[in-house]
Amino acid sequence: MREIILIKNGELVLKGLNRNTFEDILIKNMRKALKEVGEFTFTKSQSTIMVQSVEEDTDLDEAVDILKKVFGIAALSRAAVAEKDMDNIMAISREYLADEILEAKTFKVEAKRSDKKFPLKSPEISRELGGFLLSKFNHLKVDVHNPDVTVTVEIRDNYAFIRGNNIKGAGGMPVGTSGRAAVLISGGIDSPVAAYMMAKRGVELVAVHFASPPFTTELAEKKVMELLKRVAKYSGAITTYVVPFTEIQQEIRKNCPEEYFTIIMRRYMMKISEILAEHQNCSALITGESLGQVASQTMYALACTDAATSLPVFRPCIGMDKDEIIRISRKIDTFETSILPYEDCCTVFTPKHPKTRAKLVDVEAAESSMKSEELIEKAVENARRSVVK
Ligand code: ATP
Ligand code: MG
Repeated sequence: MREIILIKNGELVLKGLNRNTFEDILIKNMRKALKEVGEFTFTKSQSTIMVQSVEEDTDLDEAVDILKKVFGIAALSRAAVAEKDMDNIMAISREYLADEILEAKTFKVEAKRSDKKFPLKSPEISRELGGFLLSKFNHLKVDVHNPDVTVTVEIRDNYAFIRGNNIKGAGGMPVGTSGRAAVLISGGIDSPVAAYMMAKRGVELVAVHFASPPFTTELAEKKVMELLKRVAKYSGAITTYVVPFTEIQQEIRKNCPEEYFTIIMRRYMMKISEILAEHQNCSALITGESLGQVASQTMYALACTDAATSLPVFRPCIGMDKDEIIRISRKIDTFETSILPYEDCCTVFTPKHPKTRAKLVDVEAAESSMKSEELIEKAVENARRSVVK
């Protein structure tokens, strides 16, 4: 039996972006995501994209699992491809959907007919197939309002497609339809969630991580790479910079009042990320900050951080409680990695009494004796780049 995957794309209101561009980028992303599974062809047809494997023995379970993480897909389904003949459609429906129907108590049949030459009209197809399935599965009842299984038959020009329930897709917009942004990624819970959320809005990701050896270890860096790998299942490959940050932190400690350590450090992160972002054609920065979560995330502190860069800073977690952020991190499978106990450069240098009501003029005065340009230039020069996928 021939099988295909049908894709319903999301975002019905495509402001500023036409459907063609949206679909072309979506297809490119699906093709990349499925590369390891096999070769596929993609055909746009009406409001559906049909995904067909070229080889016979391709693992479609795996393909569906991967496609469930591709943004821009509202729903997907597997369908059997049948010759357009009612007897054949009934026989294939019975065989192909047996497992799903056996688990259900109620069902309905929905027929769609784009080939108007087909001898039966849609309600007639539904009636005939419905009656047939009821006669073959004794436990089954019809429920047109809230069925456990909806059997859908689409009569198209060349074939009929037969499918059971839709599978929910990842939603959002195809990555690459909203430009590029650089996410400041730590080993914590919040920044991978922030990265995921912006990728869901169609943003292609670049990542920047600040490491402070020997205070932070290689294991901490591995953890960040593992987190990015998990995010990349949704976002696609992520160009990643690891920036040496020890010297800057030591200079801050030497030259600045302790209560400003965190804010000043954050400002350096912004300045360096902005330069790397520009190298990578990114138009924004992303952080995992959430209002009030810690002293460096008060409105005053965030204003001082923002002032260090001219790029917009996206903070998708800003209005979320920790438990809401954790729920997403579990869903995207980053939580267990995030809570592994490796040190972050921020935790190594946390001041005892951080300034919560910091004013920009005071922060600027506090950092004024630093040799900023030199330090930033050196950090950018020594940043290591790799691609995580
Ligand atoms: P997270 O769970 O993402 O680590 P957090 O609640 O621990 O967040 P902070 O440690 O204060 O918060 O960091 C706030 C944000 O600053 C992070 O979400 C991240 O975007 C950025 N950040 C912190 N540490 C680093 C780092 N070592 N490298 C890159 N970005 C960082
Ligand atoms: Mg952190």
